[in-house]
Amino acid sequence: MTQQKEYYQILGVSRDASEEEIKKAFRQQALKYHPDRNQEPGADAKFKEINEAYQVLSDPEKRKLYDQYGYDGLKNAANGMGGFSGFEDLGGFGSIFDAFFGGSSNEESRSTSGSDLEIPVTISFEESAFGTEKEITVNRFEICSICKGSKAEPGTETSTCSSCNGSGKVTRLQKTFFGQFQQVSTCSSCEGNGVNVQTKCSNCSGNGRLRNNRKLAVTIPAGIEDNSKIRIRNQGDSGLKKGQEGDLYVSVQVSSHEKFQRMASDIFSTEEINIAQAALGDSIKVSTLDGEIELKIPKGIQSGKKIRLNNKGVVSIGRNNRRGSHIITIIVSIPSELSSEQKDLFEKLKKSFNSDE
Ligand SMILES: [Zn+2]
Ligand SMILES: [Zn+2]
Repeated sequence: MTQQKEYYQILGVSRDASEEEIKKAFRQQALKYHPDRNQEPGADAKFKEINEAYQVLSDPEKRKLYDQYGYDGLKNAANGMGGFSGFEDLGGFGSIFDAFFGGSSNEESRSTSGSDLEIPVTISFEESAFGTEKEITVNRFEICSICKGSKAEPGTETSTCSSCNGSGKVTRLQKTFFGQFQQVSTCSSCEGNGVNVQTKCSNCSGNGRLRNNRKLAVTIPAGIEDNSKIRIRNQGDSGLKKGQEGDLYVSVQVSSHEKFQRMASDIFSTEEINIAQAALGDSIKVSTLDGEIELKIPKGIQSGKKIRLNNKGVVSIGRNNRRGSHIITIIVSIPSELSSEQKDLFEKLKKSFNSDE
């Protein structure tokens, strides 16, 4: 026994629902369960079911068969006709959705929303460690202040677009393998505006928007890494009509430092000492992010030894703002040139080492 499918129940409409009601119900349900919007378990199975119900109930012939003979009757008839039985294996249901909703699951905003913008900013190594504020200039589309985005010269006549009756959208029937679908797209004669403009706004040449250089202060957090992006909501291009503003992405490049390298929240550098400092120990000045400090070199240090300075690294974002370490690798340099005095001293050292053995 095959599983019965209650298509009317699935769409939540009565058995005598009109075509319009079915379409509306499908639209609501599909938007609710579309995998792009709903990640709950079972949502995509539900979405397939909704699609299937709509395939049948939106087609007068299939609906009639279904009304008369139920799901099994429809299936049998479909197998006899060929081609129809395949609809249960809808893998790419996105395409059906696209066909119905005009290529976007977010159809309301797509045609009129502003674009995202990206602005590069270069900061110094120190600025990345401690955070900074930068003033940037964004060249962005903004709603024309004269026509308020209507595109028409204030006080002039506009008429409702006859192609779309003012809705800004046109509906086309599209035939696909699965049947006919309505494709909704932006009206081309009014560009989604809903009105035809007789006299274009002289300030924006009828575009509704104008480019403007806007200065913005951007707070760059301490510890930011090279090639990070900071997203600032709604500071991209303005949308038209009720369209959403785009976002602004500030992409942060960190200049390299002549002495320091960074890995995660730790800083690495190297310091050279001479052979006498290594043997006897010493105190040397080293630079850190917090300025110069005295570093104690223990006697007998080996070349390549690492000395860790706690809490002198970079702030680790998201880890209670704790700072990492500064790790200094000590390099003991062997002199390649010696003064005659140093040569005498090394000769003495050599004898002394030889007699120790
Ligand atoms: Zn204007
Ligand atoms: Zn129109």
